[in-house]
Amino acid sequence: MGSDDWLAFKREEFKRWMEDERRRTGLSRAVAAYTSAKAKALSRLPELEEIRREVRKIKERSIQQMDELVKITMDSVREVKGEAYLARDAEEAREIVSDLTGNGKLVVKSKSLTGDEIGINEALEERGNSVYETDLGEFIIQLRKEKPTHIINPSVHVPREEVAKTFSELLGRPVSSEIPALVGIARDYLREKFCHADVGITGANVVSAKTGTIFIVENEGNARFVSNAPPKHICLTGIEKIVPTLSDAFKVLQVLPPYATGVFMSAYVSMITGPSKTADIEKTIVYGAHGPKELHLVLLDNGRSRMAEDEAFREALYCIRCGGCMYECPVYRIIGGSFGNNYFGGIGLIWSAFTTGDEKVAAAVDACTKCGRCKEVCPLEIDTPRMVERLKQSLVKGGFVQPKHAEIMESILKKGNPFNEDEREDRSRG
Ligand code: SF4
Repeated sequence: MGSDDWLAFKREEFKRWMEDERRRTGLSRAVAAYTSAKAKALSRLPELEEIRREVRKIKERSIQQMDELVKITMDSVREVKGEAYLARDAEEAREIVSDLTGNGKLVVKSKSLTGDEIGINEALEERGNSVYETDLGEFIIQLRKEKPTHIINPSVHVPREEVAKTFSELLGRPVSSEIPALVGIARDYLREKFCHADVGITGANVVSAKTGTIFIVENEGNARFVSNAPPKHICLTGIEKIVPTLSDAFKVLQVLPPYATGVFMSAYVSMITGPSKTADIEKTIVYGAHGPKELHLVLLDNGRSRMAEDEAFREALYCIRCGGCMYECPVYRIIGGSFGNNYFGGIGLIWSAFTTGDEKVAAAVDACTKCGRCKEVCPLEIDTPRMVERLKQSLVKGGFVQPKHAEIMESILKKGNPFNEDEREDRSRG
């Protein structure tokens, strides 16, 4: 590739992030809080050592039989009167979710990386829907029209003073930058949206195939509202989230919270198996009691099957999205944000390459120093540095060679040295 246009936008972005003082303040506060909370949680949960190894095996088995598990899940969901769909790519997923939502509706959403992957908010807004993010971090960055910086804490780069400014603009009056007061503002503002929403959209942390159960793990309680208050619940999730049984899912749930946020267990784990129902009057089943009348599970492939078939990158599908590797990454600690497109850190480069394509990843792949820290701290011991190296090799083969590297290569080929120097006479004489 002759031009370095593909490099320019990411370079500019990284430069901007590095120079952003407030971003670095927010990040360093968050990294410090996370690191000590995780260390404390892990020291008090020695049994996790064994469980995380079991989870690795569960994920290996699940990815091996991913197609079969998709079929089982879809049957199980239908059996409990939900509906299930398999979207081959982002476009198909956008269409399914948009058709299910309709036009001009009020939509509340809980955090969903899969939703970001397919650009669901934009697609729904194009059809005249009003979409409200309800996770506090997502709500903050939605108001600020920014991109998330972390998979678990999307607004980790925004310090409290900036949140206060954003909320002051929202309410048209100055607000305090005390953190509890800021949380209270979001709570009051969003409560009314939950109650009047037509549709709630969530992701899922795990899905158990045999029972068709969707697991949603959270601390705020917003996903509970989103999946429970509106009459229609749409859950959009990747096919790699499926594990065979409930007990497999519970194993994943034990590992996720301590590694994600340094807690023993998240405040809320919702298990949803079918829409809300009652048979309290004459044993006649009626759907839509206090919870949603409709439950739709949209399973997304979008490159995941390709990843599963590729031995070099299959391991990326084992990721349970705890986000721990990001806080430990020396590059992430400085710049935050996504190295690739919607996914973060080194593992995000692999995910972005398979779900979004080469160009955006190619511009960011050199940000990885391959220090290996991400593998060391990963509960599933995912070898991200090895995969990043392989990705880099395949990008180079695809023509994504940095101009400086191309110069060196040319010099070696033409002049036998990387310095673009003509053969020196003294050297030829020995
Ligand atoms: S690669 Fe490992 S540490 Fe990083 S988010 Fe995935 S599971 Fe967590």
